[in-house]
Amino acid sequence: MCRMSAPFSWIRPEPHGIHIPHADLWIDPARPVGTALVTHGHADHARGGHGRTVATPATLAIMKLRYATEAGAEPAPYGETIQLPGAVAATYLPAGHVLGSAQILLEHAGERVIVTGDYKRRPDPTCPPFAVTPCDVLITEATFGLPVFRHPPIGEEIAKLLAARAANPARCVLVGAYALGKAQRVIAELRAAGYAEPIYLHGAMERMCRLYEDFGIDLGKLRPVAGVPKAELEGQIVICPPSALADRWSRRLPDPLTSMASGWMRVRARARQRQVELPLIISDHADWDELTRTIEEVNPAETWITHGREEALLRWCQLHQRKARALALVGYEDEDD
Ligand SMILES: [Zn+2]
Ligand SMILES: [Zn+2]
Repeated sequence: MCRMSAPFSWIRPEPHGIHIPHADLWIDPARPVGTALVTHGHADHARGGHGRTVATPATLAIMKLRYATEAGAEPAPYGETIQLPGAVAATYLPAGHVLGSAQILLEHAGERVIVTGDYKRRPDPTCPPFAVTPCDVLITEATFGLPVFRHPPIGEEIAKLLAARAANPARCVLVGAYALGKAQRVIAELRAAGYAEPIYLHGAMERMCRLYEDFGIDLGKLRPVAGVPKAELEGQIVICPPSALADRWSRRLPDPLTSMASGWMRVRARARQRQVELPLIISDHADWDELTRTIEEVNPAETWITHGREEALLRWCQLHQRKARALALVGYEDEDD
């Protein structure tokens, strides 16, 4: 039946997610469904309430922690092909975005479709690198899909953070970073740069950092801020969720020098709006060059663009004689960057 239909007609972008109607499978659905294939644990991709949730073991652990997802959880380790209803096979491949993040390769009727979820191509000590994998259709994210977005090397940003700390011994450096992924990557990169002091954590960060440690990611000495005398925090690095940067909580800290780690720190207005003294351009998403390089390397017959600035990447594909379309999906609010 499928062989009679148009190419790739078995997979369909719908407003609430990517749908495989004949098997009733959904990828990163924005509402509860029977069977969800989940790329990673960020809130705009992973939701509770599905009958069955297929994800990597780390993503399932994250979903258990954040959304109490337990019933119907089905692990899909990287590289193992699992057979699903409707003669659909799924293989989860590293996406290099956060712990557990995966691209999902879907195979049906001799056709191969990859849904990237969120991804990046830069090295990240907290997760395995993006696996370039051939396919017919690449469904790519485009969060930073504009040529102005070119992320600097993370080593430069970490050096700025360490220099600010060294120059301000009576203050603490307070870094706003998302609790899943960004916080642990910043900590791991500080360790890779040789920073061995304890790193202090806002309470909202602790459990996720412990989960990373449970999956073998060494984050060094971590301490909760709660209960630590103000004077002890002078000259220290404190990590908190971005929402805590400007709230009452930060008054317990000694003259905090506020920083924020996000790809959006490239946009000066955003840094100003958050009253960030030290913007750090650190992103867990592909920048413009990574997006276009990935399309070239994967070299799919078609590229479907979603989740961000679709127009510029669509135009780039057209200029490079690549068949492409922009998908308009709802519900992706970019939790992570
Ligand atoms: Zn994400
Ligand atoms: Zn996302």
